[in-house]
Amino acid sequence: VTLPPRLRRISTSLATSRISGTNLLVSDAGYRGAVVRLAGEFKQFVYEICCVEAGAAVPLARLASDVGQRGLAGLDFAAGMPGTVGGALVMNAGAHDSVIGDLLTEALILDEKLKLHSFAAEDLGLSYRKSNITSGFVVCRVKLRLSQGEKEIQERKCGQYLRFRRERQPHQPNAGSIFKNPPHDSAGRLIEAAGLKGRRVGGAMISDLHANFIVHCGNASAADVRYLLEMAREEVARQFGVNLELEIRLLGY
Ligand SMILES: Cc1cc2nc3c(=O)[nH]c(=O)nc-3n(C[C@H](O)[C@H](O)[C@H](O)COP(=O)(O)OP(=O)(O)OC[C@H]3O[C@@H](n4cnc5c(N)ncnc54)[C@H](O)[C@@H]3O)c2cc1C
Repeated sequence: VTLPPRLRRISTSLATSRISGTNLLVSDAGYRGAVVRLAGEFKQFVYEICCVEAGAAVPLARLASDVGQRGLAGLDFAAGMPGTVGGALVMNAGAHDSVIGDLLTEALILDEKLKLHSFAAEDLGLSYRKSNITSGFVVCRVKLRLSQGEKEIQERKCGQYLRFRRERQPHQPNAGSIFKNPPHDSAGRLIEAAGLKGRRVGGAMISDLHANFIVHCGNASAADVRYLLEMAREEVARQFGVNLELEIRLLGY
């Protein structure tokens, strides 16, 4: 399906945004379906005692920074993490041995019939970068449990995690980690050991900083990125017998 130019622009901007669509590879042909971008009250958050209730469109990094500045602990692992709170819950995003699902006390989710449900973390099938929230369901708000910390310590922790990202992750546009880490190993290490670091196809390149990222060098198509990720998957399987599982989601394929 070839999309009209306006919709193609939307899928391109989703694919290179740091706020939403950060874990997606959208086909060059676009996506035939509705893409909902939440705004307005979905971008607001309020604090209760040792808890924050956030709309699904709140940028995760902004929330993590605000929580840290208030001296509250729990969300520091998400400092600098792109994407929204809603996307983070669907992907059960995490870093530094913590995931958002561990903090969740309640999620308000709209079903396909526009009925709102309240779910606890154990209802959502949360595991490594996975939930059972399927397409058609919309995360509207989440409540996250926090604990009282010290402002100075929390700010320092957020700063350290932010520096970690800046030093270890590529700065060119990308869709985050392409593959999940297999048990007891890292996808980046395997792709690098397969000799693919820096491999370029069209305008896309397997990052020479961290091989589990494919970066957009200015004129990449989704097909370039897809080609490289399939190459990485095949080479790692051939050389090491490990089947890498995609972490990013493919849209429009
Ligand atoms: C540079 C970089 C670094 C990253 N580092 C990390 C990291 O350290 N750890 C990590 O876990 N992830 C990381 N990511 C991935 C990304 O940050 C997270 O997966 C993020 O939480 C996705 O949020 P999003 O709003 O962009 O979701 P999208 O990518 O837009 O969507 C992801 C999925 O969630 C669905 N979705 C999104 N919002 C909603 C909603 N409100 N209701 C229902 N479904 C919804 C979408 O349909 C899609 O299926 C990184 C990405 C980048 C680009």
